[in-house]
Amino acid sequence: MICRFCAAELTRSFLDLGMQPLSNAYVREADRDRPETFYPLHAMVCERCLLVQLPVCASPETIFSEYPYLSSTSASWVAHARRFAEAATRRFELSAASHVVEIASNDGYLLRHFLARGIPVLGVEPAANVAKVARDAGVPTLTRFFGRAVADQLVLEGTSADLLVANNVLAHVPDLNDFVDGLHTLLAPRGVLVLEFPHLGRLLSGRQFDTIYHEHFSYFSFGTVARVLEAHRLELVDVEELDTHGGSLRVYAQRAGAGRPVTENVAKLAASEEREGGRSLARYDRFAGEVMEVKRALLTFLIDERRGGHRIAAYGAAAKGNTLLNYAGVRGDFIDYVVDLNPLKQGRLLPGTRIPVYAPARLAETRPDVVIILPWNLEVEISAQLSYVRDWGARLAVLIPDVRVLP
Ligand code: ZN
Repeated sequence: MICRFCAAELTRSFLDLGMQPLSNAYVREADRDRPETFYPLHAMVCERCLLVQLPVCASPETIFSEYPYLSSTSASWVAHARRFAEAATRRFELSAASHVVEIASNDGYLLRHFLARGIPVLGVEPAANVAKVARDAGVPTLTRFFGRAVADQLVLEGTSADLLVANNVLAHVPDLNDFVDGLHTLLAPRGVLVLEFPHLGRLLSGRQFDTIYHEHFSYFSFGTVARVLEAHRLELVDVEELDTHGGSLRVYAQRAGAGRPVTENVAKLAASEEREGGRSLARYDRFAGEVMEVKRALLTFLIDERRGGHRIAAYGAAAKGNTLLNYAGVRGDFIDYVVDLNPLKQGRLLPGTRIPVYAPARLAETRPDVVIILPWNLEVEISAQLSYVRDWGARLAVLIPDVRVLP
């Protein structure tokens, strides 16, 4: 097994989460008695470039073809997209003469904000069902996996990107070098590339091991992403820290030599990553032990609650919840059901653990004693939505980075 960026041999374990099903492979009720495919979920760290990564164990078509996540179902995510579109339009002086291209454009949650300002857009989205939602909403969308070949074709057809956005997709790319090479190709000579991705530094400090799942092939520190971009003649010009996904980076890059000045944020973030140990293998080596302690603590909590005769439900049938529940071996013996707003998930069973998924109304119907918020990154939004469960005395809790009952 070799590093997908620098091709060094991968020999160092980062975190072994055991055998797990694909975390978006929700099981139909009719398939309850049929087997599921489990794959190893074992992250490695490259000793040369510090890229944390999973080997690709299933084809991208298997993993992404019916991706059930619609970005527009999260209110905070839609607001995040709108603020970005406003800021980018001003900062980069985008107009009807510009072209905004987004890779992994999902249901058009971001591009629709540019369209509303009269700026031409193109989305590239491999999940056919999600791309259709975007097209139906008027957002031109190409149903393809992005890489060098797609970029070459678009350039041949006269498309280049004045603003090229690839948010929360870098982690999902099996052939990282081909993808980043494609970004360089599609970027106009004076264009700006914007990438958002979860920051490995926050994964380490927040014990966010449940963000590791088969669909996430790579986990980037700032230092490693800078190396990857540089290898493809792209130059970092700015970086911002965001709260999304438990702590993300938004980096701005240009073709090497395109002339925009580099902001002081770049050196500042590099220095803070160095201080926190993000550039030393010793920090990576400690992580697996910290995760085992999280598992022991959350099992203790769940066992105590069940022994006390309490009924437990969970909110948010998201991929990260599935990693957590499968790793900890938590099934219907601890959690009766999970509720989720996404109608595509309701009526199905969680992969592996087979916990049933219902619409949120189920909470008021059954009045559980504890409701666990699985997407801890949306704790504020979800706990506000769920404040009504306190009416019957239920408690809200999160499990990561520590078990915490919300006040
Ligand atoms: Zn490497």
